[in-house]
Amino acid sequence: MKQAVLTGIRRMAIIERGKPQLKNDSDVLIRLSCVGVCGSDIHYFVDGRIGSQVVQFPFAVGHECSGVIEEVGRAVTRVKPGDLVAVDPSIHCGVCDQCLSGRPHTCRNNRFLGCPGQIEGCLSDYIVMPEFCCYALDASFSPVKAALIEPLTIGIYSVEQAQMSPEGKTIGIFGAGPIGLSVLLTLRTTNSGPVYCIEPLGYRREKALELGATLAIDPNQEDVEQSVLQVEPWLLDLVFECSGQQDAVDNALKILKPGGRLVLVGIPPEARYVFDMDLMRRKEISVQNVRRQNHCVEKAIRLIRGGLPVEKMVTHHFSLAESERAFNLVADYRDEVIKAVIDLQVINTGA
Ligand SMILES: [Zn+2]
Ligand SMILES: [Zn+2]
Repeated sequence: MKQAVLTGIRRMAIIERGKPQLKNDSDVLIRLSCVGVCGSDIHYFVDGRIGSQVVQFPFAVGHECSGVIEEVGRAVTRVKPGDLVAVDPSIHCGVCDQCLSGRPHTCRNNRFLGCPGQIEGCLSDYIVMPEFCCYALDASFSPVKAALIEPLTIGIYSVEQAQMSPEGKTIGIFGAGPIGLSVLLTLRTTNSGPVYCIEPLGYRREKALELGATLAIDPNQEDVEQSVLQVEPWLLDLVFECSGQQDAVDNALKILKPGGRLVLVGIPPEARYVFDMDLMRRKEISVQNVRRQNHCVEKAIRLIRGGLPVEKMVTHHFSLAESERAFNLVADYRDEVIKAVIDLQVINTGA
């Protein structure tokens, strides 16, 4: 089978290797249909690392995927050959303190697709996964929609982690990439108050407005605090930081009202942020981190089945052979890219 591997900084190669084999009775063999290119994959592509997680080349990344079940182990009951499945990329152990306390996403022995030092990603023709990671989908799902379930779970979980009902709340989102837009899409299924998106790229601001943002603010042209004050004199209840940028954190503290809550979703390029503690303390702002997602796959499936237009985030399609081009395009924010996907079942789709 073919596999796309990172071979160096901003370099990828397509290699030929054996088809993976089922190891356990609860394993399934999946023929991949579609893989989304995620911002975290791009960190590995551009920097060779995220914080302490360092890539040893060659290594396959990719974790947002859908595929068709081709073979199942003897004990498998949830899925059968021929099923289109969404794949939860997180394999938890089920027995550690985190798993036992309902936090499989912070499992001590977690193995996450395409995470260095854990397991290789899904940028290949086939992968083997335990059946509990697979969710069979009905015919209303295309392979592309199915691959968008994973990023949407992050949006859903971020809204849950806010631990504040969004109903009637004034909300800000920094960054209108796939994760910021997933938060926005999730909020549009609630009775939240106005949602303000802060995003420097014009085409992404337009997308945010198309997907239901109340107002889109350009942080490079406007004073974010002043722009928010004009429409919300008491400032905002809740802010989701989905860009990983220090500037966004600085502005977030300015546009939150006293008692407001900052949810950190984006991955900063460096491991540290600086917080204006004077402002944070006087406003008594609370901060919540988000680690991927927990128990949100079925919720994402329900929302997409109900018509949530996640596919509007997809701007580009590539073949596996074009992976390096796809990654460079996303890394450079070229050609108005938002979500690029790799289609495994086609020979060559072009950009
Ligand atoms: Zn991702
Ligand atoms: Zn565990």
